[in-house]
Amino acid sequence: MRLFYYAIFFILINNCYSMDFYRIKVYEILCRDCGEAEIDCNKFFENNQSINESLLEFPVGFKNAERFYIAQNFGEINPRFRNRYHLGEDWNYIGGGDSDFGAPVYSIGKGVVSMTKDLGGGWGKVIRICHRLSAEASTKLGINYIESVYAHLSAFHIQTGDIVERGRWVGSIGNSNQAYPSHLHFELRSALGEDLGGGYESEIPIFYLKPSLTIDSLYSSE
Ligand SMILES: [Zn+2]
Repeated sequence: MRLFYYAIFFILINNCYSMDFYRIKVYEILCRDCGEAEIDCNKFFENNQSINESLLEFPVGFKNAERFYIAQNFGEINPRFRNRYHLGEDWNYIGGGDSDFGAPVYSIGKGVVSMTKDLGGGWGKVIRICHRLSAEASTKLGINYIESVYAHLSAFHIQTGDIVERGRWVGSIGNSNQAYPSHLHFELRSALGEDLGGGYESEIPIFYLKPSLTIDSLYSSE
């Protein structure tokens, strides 16, 4: 009998990244730190004072979101995820379905890659990038830092620790091993290195930013 419980426990642990309804609960309980950053960005910026960003661009559609639209907005309540708030924006190509599979995902600004991990299940391949804002941009937005999160990717084109420029092709759009139609789940945060979380919460934590609004406020059309 004891062996039976061990077996169940083992199965639960191994399913902790899975994406279906029942398993999402398990994911929340057991994978709280699965998406932990691999680099301490606060320390990194202390040692790299010259790295900052004053302008931002969109992560898809030739860096200006051309031919892309937001299929699910930030803060939208999703009944499929127990009526919790969506903490990012889901970017889709106008062609629908998997027509954007493999399309480039760009870094919204200069920064350091703090995580490139394949979390499987609902998250898939995830990139986290830390950005420090220039003095001017900080004043404009009222924050000093932004962390950008790019999820469900099909490929990584950078590594953890890379310093990337604004507009750098960092990953490609994917569908988390066919968990969804292809799209980019994209989050922005005003705090660095917070828990990756589950993409949805019953209350929106204070450090989450509305992605498009934030980018629009500093948008570069170069
Ligand atoms: Zn999403």
